[in-house]
Amino acid sequence: MRSVDDIARKMKNLPPIRYRIAASNPEAHLFEVACTVADPDPAGQRFFLPAWAPGSYMIREFARHIVTIRAQANGKKVGLVKLDKHTWQAAPCAEPLTVVCEIYAWDLSVRAAHLDTTHGFFNGSSVFLCVNGLEDRPCRVEILRPAGAAYRGWRVATAMPRDRAKAYGFGSYIVANYEELIDHPVEMGNFALKAFRACGVPHDIVITGRQRCDMDRLAADLKRICEYQIRLFGEPAPMQRYVFLVTALGDGYGGLEHRASTALVCARDDLPRIGMREPGDAYRGFLGLASHEYFHTWNVKRIKPAAFVPYDLTRENYTRLLWAFEGITSYYDDLTLVRAGLISAESYLELVARVATSVLRGSGRHKQSVAESSFDAWIKYYRQDENAPNAIVSYYLKGSLIALLLDFTIRRESRGRRSLDDVMRALWKKTRVTGGGIEEQEWEAIATKASGVDLRGFFDSTVRGRRELPLADALAAFGVEFELRAAQSANDRGGKGASVVLNAVLGVRVASGREARLTHVLDGGAAQKAGLSAGDVVIALDGLRVTAASFEQAVNSRTPGSTIEVHAFRRDELMQFQVKPRAPARDTCVLTLNPNPGARVLALRDGWLGRRRKAAR
Ligand code: ZN
Repeated sequence: MRSVDDIARKMKNLPPIRYRIAASNPEAHLFEVACTVADPDPAGQRFFLPAWAPGSYMIREFARHIVTIRAQANGKKVGLVKLDKHTWQAAPCAEPLTVVCEIYAWDLSVRAAHLDTTHGFFNGSSVFLCVNGLEDRPCRVEILRPAGAAYRGWRVATAMPRDRAKAYGFGSYIVANYEELIDHPVEMGNFALKAFRACGVPHDIVITGRQRCDMDRLAADLKRICEYQIRLFGEPAPMQRYVFLVTALGDGYGGLEHRASTALVCARDDLPRIGMREPGDAYRGFLGLASHEYFHTWNVKRIKPAAFVPYDLTRENYTRLLWAFEGITSYYDDLTLVRAGLISAESYLELVARVATSVLRGSGRHKQSVAESSFDAWIKYYRQDENAPNAIVSYYLKGSLIALLLDFTIRRESRGRRSLDDVMRALWKKTRVTGGGIEEQEWEAIATKASGVDLRGFFDSTVRGRRELPLADALAAFGVEFELRAAQSANDRGGKGASVVLNAVLGVRVASGREARLTHVLDGGAAQKAGLSAGDVVIALDGLRVTAASFEQAVNSRTPGSTIEVHAFRRDELMQFQVKPRAPARDTCVLTLNPNPGARVLALRDGWLGRRRKAAR
């Protein structure tokens, strides 16, 4: 944590890097970004733009959106040589040196930059050049309002510490170094704004886009999430203020965590309406997303894998620990909702059951461990193709189930005295003391020490292993019944009972749309055995036309083991297959509370769900 005064003090000794970002041409989606170095390298200063943004583990090569770039010093042009895809070197020159870029900003996601006549948004990693060798310098950033009467009402929302800018104003902001500079995304426009305090810390909710959100309700619910998590890790909170930057669209979902803010994209119907009672599916999903990103304020933005300290922004940063940083965060996101009293235990179990269902439907879980999935996130999880369910496992989803099992193991072995909460607090304490990252083996050692439970076998089998997780037994010990059934339909994500289930399936997933185009052909299924492929467009079953809408029921009306003649196009070639449909796998999970679990089990379950009861002994 650094106050503005700390940064100003640092600037007295070291000249800051000065940035100026102007929404110079909203109609053409162009930001103009200048970077000025007071004392450039006399041998020729180098600059680069990051290849990726922390939190999103994929090489994105933001430099591809630099449209023009030029350098100048003392009003004279300075030569710039491009050294690789994202690095430039200026010729030796007089001081100070300024590099100016025009950057195309038309990525409506939480990861890069977007600018039009309605608003602007940017992540620093896609717009601010890094000055090689001067990454630790403080930075002063001037954010300029677009020219014209239409933009007079625009305001600025960011967690970046203000220098001379007024609250929500254009003007100057300061940060301690480059890594901080790119960790405060900025929104500008005519946004909706609601402020609240959580454990005394000022929080803002900023919503861009057309919406009819009940801002009071949202603020009240987010406050409970924030206060629960601040108290979980222990007061005081590690940030001086926090900003939820929300973009509401017709459809969308995503979030990216930062040290004192998060950027979220959601569907406008995910936001609460006036009069809404217990959160429905959509709003519950939004609260889970906000809760997830907020938990990252500790888990990955401060408690970090050693591989991220510091980040190398020019290339992949490999770690086998993403399961712990994303999986555990995914466990606590929804758990926070039930512990903070925002959803019922039944509603929470529905969410856990859906996660289990999703994991059980991919045979990739037997081929890749979550440690391997973490390591290969850059080329697999973030770049999923038609074979993904057969080849990879999600370190988010399976990781969250491992977190649940870890929590249960600690609670059971310690007779309810310790839990995963203690492990998280120990990791946070270690981080505050040393300031460094967590090595792969060290994470497990800290968990073992903080819990007082020998967890070596646990991590070998769950984190590095590929066998089925023992969910049913673990949940039973906490008074939760685990049941598997077949799916009701392709839209059945699990979590609820079903009176009727599918009778026959081909082991495929079909794209929405008109034609029955196969998006995935699952390992060991009927379609794969017969030679059908992802991308094939099925046009007829037994000589009768089939569409995306009629495919599932047309297959379901057949008897498992019978033969269907399938006609399908692969590219422009009509092909014929003999397919034997099968009975569906029991891969859809339903969890229910055991109504009579017994006092000991009930105490464990209440401890887990955060329900306080008078101790019944
Ligand atoms: Zn995350």
